[in-house]
Amino acid sequence: MTGRSITILQLYPLDMNIYGDYGNVLVLKRRLQWYGYEVNVLAYNVGDSFPDDVDIIIGGGGQDSGQVKIQADLMSIGPRLKQLADQNVPMLVICGLYQLFGKFFKTADGEVIQGIGLLDIETYGKSERLIGNVIVTSEQFGDIIGYENHSGQTYLGDDVKPLGEIQLGAGNNTESNTEGARYNNVIGSYLHGSILPKNPKLADFLIDRAVTNKYGVFYSEPIGDNFVNEARKIASKRPR
Ligand code: GLN
Repeated sequence: MTGRSITILQLYPLDMNIYGDYGNVLVLKRRLQWYGYEVNVLAYNVGDSFPDDVDIIIGGGGQDSGQVKIQADLMSIGPRLKQLADQNVPMLVICGLYQLFGKFFKTADGEVIQGIGLLDIETYGKSERLIGNVIVTSEQFGDIIGYENHSGQTYLGDDVKPLGEIQLGAGNNTESNTEGARYNNVIGSYLHGSILPKNPKLADFLIDRAVTNKYGVFYSEPIGDNFVNEARKIASKRPR
């Protein structure tokens, strides 16, 4: 197995990385190492040149001001991100970048922040902030546990599927009972927390897709997830 490496790219860590979203990169890195892979972690910030070889892309949340700051740069790399999504590169984008992977985010102040339209979603800022613990049920990943804090409410078009159904909390919006969106191997979600430490099935999905794209097949010895399972039990009993 030696010599096999996976490159993780984190988008805009300087401006889009709140509520511990960097933890998602750390989880992918550690699990990949446990599975026997070498890991390169790259950061892409405003003005950087986009790397040629990327196996997993991770993006975090941010304040509306952070979203405005990265908007033009994100539009400039949008075509490359879409190309990678169509090549089945796995990506996980949380909250602020989830919104901007969609068509637009119209903030509560009426400002329109354009997105790259990789996900068929639209987001409208509302006066009520949706804050608190969240539990989502999904067919593929079981229960997904996290924490949300957003003013934007997101509505899904026909070209995406929701990540799952809300059991606790709000998720995409206060009306639809859905959370997140999925297109190919791209997952958008409102869940901070960070999401991956408490949801190893989701982490292993991204890893499996990345390794399979690069090396044809992903063989794995199971990782002892006892501590995670204990943490999930406690987290799932938290009140909203
Ligand atoms: N600024 C966006 C909103 O409030 C995203 C928030 C976030 O990333 N936590 O909806």
